[in-house]
Amino acid sequence: MISKYQVTVIPQEDYNSPEISEKLGEYFDKNGYLFEEKSVLIKPSFVFPIGDSQKAIAINTHVNLVAGIAKALSDRGARKILIAENRTMGTARYAFNRVGIKKVVKGIRNVKFCYLDEKKRKNIFVKEPFISNHVIKYPKLLVDGSIDYFISVPKLKGNLYTDVTLSVKNNFGLISKKERLKYHDDRLHDHLSDIALIRQPDLIITDTIISGEGNGPAEVKPIKTQMMIVGDNCLAVDVTCCYLIGKDPKEVQHLKNLAERGIGPLNINDIEIVNRDYLEVKKCNFVDQDRSLKVHPSLTIYQGKEVCISGCPAFLRSYLDAYGKNLGWEILSGMTIIVGKDLNIPEKELEKLEKRKTIVYGDCAEQYKKYGVFFKGCPPDYVKAMFKISTRTTLPNIPYFKYMSYPKYLTTWIVHLFQRILRF
Ligand code: SF4
Repeated sequence: MISKYQVTVIPQEDYNSPEISEKLGEYFDKNGYLFEEKSVLIKPSFVFPIGDSQKAIAINTHVNLVAGIAKALSDRGARKILIAENRTMGTARYAFNRVGIKKVVKGIRNVKFCYLDEKKRKNIFVKEPFISNHVIKYPKLLVDGSIDYFISVPKLKGNLYTDVTLSVKNNFGLISKKERLKYHDDRLHDHLSDIALIRQPDLIITDTIISGEGNGPAEVKPIKTQMMIVGDNCLAVDVTCCYLIGKDPKEVQHLKNLAERGIGPLNINDIEIVNRDYLEVKKCNFVDQDRSLKVHPSLTIYQGKEVCISGCPAFLRSYLDAYGKNLGWEILSGMTIIVGKDLNIPEKELEKLEKRKTIVYGDCAEQYKKYGVFFKGCPPDYVKAMFKISTRTTLPNIPYFKYMSYPKYLTTWIVHLFQRILRF
């Protein structure tokens, strides 16, 4: 089948960096990519910056894959290879420090680290945006002509907020944490679509060597899908990834939005897939996200009918998963959660609530703030919320904190602030 959209499935059993480099090098040469003297920006996802690579294997883009790409580019004479990521839990510097990228790219010529939270941003007025009058603070270097090739390297996984994490979702890491929280409600898919309209990657190399099934971003089950899915059209690659995991791309609103704008295909039959036989052999059905908050019989949930699924409830489910899946669901027993609008909780029930066992989450539920620990925001800042849950409620520290290196967290913040002062 001949199509203007071509996606290549490259079988890859594990994270063997030299092997990855060789295979991608062959792909670049065969498809006429010329990187000599070019500047390239690689955007992986280091959303969960921890030193435990096994725990993060289905969450982050694997650093060996990033190193394999960088080596293939360097061997082909790329002048500048920027590995770029933004702030996640802590600064971008902290993320780079924790995921171990520096060690694996050591010695590869022309590799530099690009901490997006320290780079200049430019206000972009999105043309015909999905969110009216949408202005996005976007990394200047991606729109000022200084990057010849933008390579997106997402991890394939399920996502509580956006259904899937693929290349369109990977763009979210290009903007600041503050901007990411701005439309983190029912408008999230439109927000992602608008970001994607600014600049699409020139190449997508999806980390589907080990993929993540379930309630991502963090609580996913590793599944060996053993391939890299590569192509130059973000929708064609994302739709092929959806096909691999049995997800209907028409159910993913941001993919649907972009297909309607003519960015790419939404139907797998419109894509020419090299090595389709291998894809068919590996095809599987990932379970969908479980977004219910009622994860334990003795956890009381007051959830307003008018609540945005990609906002507060999804954040809350991610905290519940963090406790339940790591410490056992029993730890949540006796807690109460109040979230969403238009709740009519009887006064009698409210009087019984124990303040430190009650989470009142998000501005929609503000009227109940005196009955529990209140998390302000629409939605609240997720990092601050994790600290607050750990310190103000009766729950113990959120389990992810055990992976934090506090000295590194602090020192990277100091360097980060210093760099930002120098920038202005
Ligand atoms: S405060 Fe309300 S509108 Fe805002 S994210 Fe939370 S549930 Fe959605």
